[in-house]
Amino acid sequence: MNVFDVGIIGGGVIGQGIAYELSKAGLKTAVFESGEIGGKATSAAAGMLGAHSENEKRDIFFELCLESRNLYPSLAKELLEQSGVDIELVQEGMYRLAFTEEEGRSLQSLADENELEWHSRENVLANEPHVSEDIAGALWLKHDGQVKGSSVCHAYAKGARKYGASIFEQCPVFDVIKEGKAYKLVTSQGVFICGKVVVSSGVWSGFFFEKLGLRNPMKPVKGECLAIKPKKLVINKTVFYEHCYIVPKKDGTVIIGATSYENDWDTHPTVKGVSELMIKVQKIMPEIGSEPVVSAWSSLRPQTADGWPYFAEHPEHEGIFFATGHYRNGILLAPITSLIVKDMILKTNQYERYVHSFSLNRLLSDAKGR
Ligand SMILES: Cc1cc2nc3c(=O)[nH]c(=O)nc-3n(C[C@H](O)[C@H](O)[C@H](O)COP(=O)(O)OP(=O)(O)OC[C@H]3O[C@@H](n4cnc5c(N)ncnc54)[C@H](O)[C@@H]3O)c2cc1C
Repeated sequence: MNVFDVGIIGGGVIGQGIAYELSKAGLKTAVFESGEIGGKATSAAAGMLGAHSENEKRDIFFELCLESRNLYPSLAKELLEQSGVDIELVQEGMYRLAFTEEEGRSLQSLADENELEWHSRENVLANEPHVSEDIAGALWLKHDGQVKGSSVCHAYAKGARKYGASIFEQCPVFDVIKEGKAYKLVTSQGVFICGKVVVSSGVWSGFFFEKLGLRNPMKPVKGECLAIKPKKLVINKTVFYEHCYIVPKKDGTVIIGATSYENDWDTHPTVKGVSELMIKVQKIMPEIGSEPVVSAWSSLRPQTADGWPYFAEHPEHEGIFFATGHYRNGILLAPITSLIVKDMILKTNQYERYVHSFSLNRLLSDAKGR
């Protein structure tokens, strides 16, 4: 029978994470994915868990990022046990570089006792000898780590299946129609009845906002990356300057990212984008210029009007939830998002402050005044 407690629209890292937590909690869960599991933004991500690298303000969004990042070590073990997939968690910290004395002073002012430590130029070069000698120093973000985003998604999916979830690939959802107290999901593989529905279809969630009578807050922010497989350089830690980062992965490749183009739905990496990255990365690490490029790719970050995600129930249609708009941080935020959505559906009220802060009120009030 095509009847489920919860139907999840979108099988990226957010949808699969939610499916994992809900099926683990005993709910009969289905994921509907129009393409392949994790095939869109999720597999394009560099996988940084940048609670600090993404935030300077100490607001509720920073707290959300930090809490999610801190869930990763135990989640990595749990997912390995449940799914056999290693999400390749690396906890080496990251270097945020300063090139001028002024940048250095500004980063030093962020240093604290627990998470952020200022390292002198000499110290950085001793640890990362290929970084440019022109640096003034770096802030070491001790606990910001990284994972392989696509592996997190696949581990969640395998784990969810083990807990009984059904995952339908090549199965776009075309419509959501109220059916008594439940909802009919109209898909390419037939009609499914779901007691509750979660919209987690990344930048394409906008379609469902509109279908369900809300303003579409989603816009694409195209991001391009490239990967090298160094023959000579040894890079130990993630290093970044402004919006260019160098992320050494466990398999020996190094990801260089990422460009950022708003309102661009095209998903091909372009010569312009890739050359922009190549110029920036050689400022950070001049010797990287002679290393072989193995691939380049691009995808769409799901951005909302104010850059924060939504974790919210529809104001008029009880049982329809939105978990979307993770923009630059969907890999980082997948663990906490999954728990928040479970909390909303099971009404356990553990994450009320996040539900309050990331509600649809921002959309309804036009996201002003925050
Ligand atoms: C270049 C780049 C680098 C990034 N680096 C990082 C990083 O280092 N760290 C980090 O935390 N984040 C990073 N991100 C952001 C992160 O990738 C996203 O925030 C995250 O993947 C969003 O996950 P999602 O599941 O919401 O969206 P997606 O992964 O896009 O998944 C949405 C899914 O919904 C499906 N779908 C759409 N419409 C329908 C429909 N009608 N029916 C059924 N299914 C549908 C799509 O096929 C898709 O698979 C990066 C993003 C990019 C582009």
